[in-house]
Amino acid sequence: MSLTRRSVALLGATGSIGIQTLDVLRLEPDHFELVAIAGGQRVTELAAIAEEFHVRRIGIANESDREPLASLVAADVEIVVGSTGLAELAQCADIVVNAVMGFAGLPVTMAALLAGKRLALANKESLIAAAPLVVAARSTPGATVLPIDSEHCAIHQCLAGSRAGVGHPDVRRLLLTASGGPFRGWSHERLATASKRDALNHPTWSMGPKITVDSSTLMNKGLEVLEASALFGIEVERVDVVVHPQSIVHSMVEYVDGSVVAQLSRPDMRLPIAYCLGLPERLHHGWGMLDFTQPLSLTFEAPDREAFPALDLAYGAARRGGAAPAWLSAANEVAVEAFLNGRLAWAQIVPTVAAVMDQYVDDPLHSLDDLLANDATARRLTHGILEK
Ligand code: NDP
Ligand code: MG
Repeated sequence: MSLTRRSVALLGATGSIGIQTLDVLRLEPDHFELVAIAGGQRVTELAAIAEEFHVRRIGIANESDREPLASLVAADVEIVVGSTGLAELAQCADIVVNAVMGFAGLPVTMAALLAGKRLALANKESLIAAAPLVVAARSTPGATVLPIDSEHCAIHQCLAGSRAGVGHPDVRRLLLTASGGPFRGWSHERLATASKRDALNHPTWSMGPKITVDSSTLMNKGLEVLEASALFGIEVERVDVVVHPQSIVHSMVEYVDGSVVAQLSRPDMRLPIAYCLGLPERLHHGWGMLDFTQPLSLTFEAPDREAFPALDLAYGAARRGGAAPAWLSAANEVAVEAFLNGRLAWAQIVPTVAAVMDQYVDDPLHSLDDLLANDATARRLTHGILEK
């Protein structure tokens, strides 16, 4: 059976996930047509993508980049700006890939779902912050969320054979695997000396700077626990984290009869991207294929929760619910940015987030305005702590 040709909007096209999505699309011109792209500031890259794929709609973050971009693209290319531009582009294709970094991806997630689109979601921050709103938007006819994040994509595949997803009593728990990041096995004393260069040196994945830092603190895994809970509708008590340094087993589902179903491949994000684009078909490229004629060792261990308190901070935020995950994600985004700009030591990233979370007052998060207000408060408090 062949796929029907579907239109794709790729928002966050200039980043790590964006570039790998373009790799997939380049090989599948008969199945997918790229109709819209967006990025933040890299206008030269956006213009080059638009030319290669004949894209006629481009989104950028700032009005000041409109003229420079317009001078690089054909006169009939439409340029839209900011969050309203992103929301517009998220409604114009069959499949919307949200590869924007951070909370800035929220308009894409919400607009795509409210327009009844397939959302291929890399941007975990929007789902985590807006979980109650996303769950409601997902019930729009036609709307689906498929996770690009490799762990969640693995779980999606591991559940394919189960009768009714995680809500079914057959499923005992989800096991998210974690590489452990560059600091696995480091002592408290050694972690205190961790540098930016150390943190950006991920052992198994090559990714954008923010998620690479999140992987070094294990905040990424904490955020992924929240992501799994929101995506699959499962309480966090049934989501566990297992350190697996080889990054071959991308995650697992444990059933009540004792069976554990896992998904394996070499680490290559083009595989989950292609899965989310192609479903219900699988694309024929063999990304990350394993060679079982060669020795392969897979090891598993428990995470060091004392050295990496981000994990328990995330479980704590999940238990509080409401706007707590939005606070966690916002505070973390600000702290990581400060670290990347050389204003905060690595060892202070998670304590800074924890200090913000100490000030959280329960808010059930009823509306988008509510979410935006909470996000702004958490960011303001984090900046306040950083300035002390
Ligand atoms: P990058 O930093 O490499 O790319 C981020 C992208 O977002 C860029 O295209 C950037 O544009 C764009 N962007 C940033 N701000 C805005 C804005 N305000 N409006 C429009 N576009 C914007 O990040 P990654 O690709 O690594 O990550 C993207 C998302 O995917 C994150 O949520 C991450 O957690 C998730 N993810 C990534 C994985 C990976 O392997 N990289 C794995 C799993 C999840 P520009 O550069 O032009 O400013
Ligand atoms: Mg992941």
